[in-house]
Amino acid sequence: MNNSNSIFNRAKKVIPGGVNSPVRAFGAVGIDPIFVKSALGSKIYDVDGNEYIDYICSWGPLIFGHSKKEFISGVEEIMMRGTSYGLPTEIEVSMAELIVDAYPSIDMVRMVSSGTEATMSAIRLARGYTKKNKIIKFEGCYHGHSDSLLVKSGSGTLTYFEPTSLGVPSKVVEDTLVAKYNDIESVKKLIEMYGDDIATVIVEPVAGNMGVVAPDIKFMKELRRITEDNNILLIFDEVITGFRVSYGGAQEVLGIKPDITCLGKIIGGGLPVGAYGGRKEIMELVSPLGGVYQAGTLSGNPLAMHMGYKTLKALKNDKSLYTKIENLAIYFENELNRIIQDLKAPLTVTRFKGMLCIFFIDNEIKSYDDVKGSDLKSYAEFFRKMLKEGVILPPAQFEGLFLSDAHTKEDVETTIVKMEKVLRKMY
Ligand SMILES: *Cc1c(COP(=O)(O)O)cnc(C)c1O
Repeated sequence: MNNSNSIFNRAKKVIPGGVNSPVRAFGAVGIDPIFVKSALGSKIYDVDGNEYIDYICSWGPLIFGHSKKEFISGVEEIMMRGTSYGLPTEIEVSMAELIVDAYPSIDMVRMVSSGTEATMSAIRLARGYTKKNKIIKFEGCYHGHSDSLLVKSGSGTLTYFEPTSLGVPSKVVEDTLVAKYNDIESVKKLIEMYGDDIATVIVEPVAGNMGVVAPDIKFMKELRRITEDNNILLIFDEVITGFRVSYGGAQEVLGIKPDITCLGKIIGGGLPVGAYGGRKEIMELVSPLGGVYQAGTLSGNPLAMHMGYKTLKALKNDKSLYTKIENLAIYFENELNRIIQDLKAPLTVTRFKGMLCIFFIDNEIKSYDDVKGSDLKSYAEFFRKMLKEGVILPPAQFEGLFLSDAHTKEDVETTIVKMEKVLRKMY
């Protein structure tokens, strides 16, 4: 038994499943998890002394890679002045100014501590603003784990949606409608059926939680148009894509202005942060200005703001990083496609800017329906073999691979060589 195994055994006794977020248990890949000791740049080191090229990047936040010296220095000085006050600080204002400056759709922004809080609050705000009740989300999109968003379409019908978690009363998801990603007709149908009572449509402008599924630009433009026409607020959940696919997020790439934007992940630079923002007249409804209540003991925490501010500032100062990461992702994609074609393996690579996914299915990929039949057993085998080769991929098929500024061409070349070796044995 190695060190990871023995820590996991201790963990399972005192933490449900031994982990503080389910995917970390490696359940989908059929082995016990590695426990991390440290990380630097593009590499992770486990408690058994193994080194891995990391394509998880903490599930998105680490666009500069792990432990970037320039960001971490100064944290101690900040801590010496106190870790949290429950009173306002200047760095929160500077952070908000940076975000407002980067997103033309955002006049005002409120900091929270996670992406889950951001989307939950954004939905409350949309309901408060429109004075309507129902919301539309898309199958395969994830917006954190608040009750009303843990729902999927029920068997066969367009009118029945079931909770995806125990403990969520069906009454709570009664007002959550589920549409099909990249399928405008599915949205139109719901609007026809429930027209006057739909407060908001929440969408990942680039889907990153069913693997990476790129948006159809016509679909997104149409979605913007019909929400506007029907007095429905459009929420872009840019918790992954914000400051990742470009400095101004997916909305900048797509040229679409949502009413409310949710941010998270990158804006905390690896510390717990989320945010939601939008037009002034909407945001003015948030307490203490307006009647939509929302609060947080650790919201705008000085350490998190410090890390977030340094990350955003560095991104702003050198936007060439986005091209660099995208080019690396394109190289990765091309090499993978070469291997797939060569082996005639039933795999499909999807990519949007620097976000990438290797699906174990041979399909055109536009919605959850296209990926749900993926060969999960083969993905698990691929993951395990790549882990042995010193490359850590997301421990589940329906997650994206993230590259960072710290990933080098050599990292990706090494990864490709190992992937080719592993896939050659599998196909
Ligand atoms: C990660 C994620 C969330 C949830 O954020 P947490 O910080 O994990 O609560 C919400 N929406 C999207 C699109 C995400 O990827």
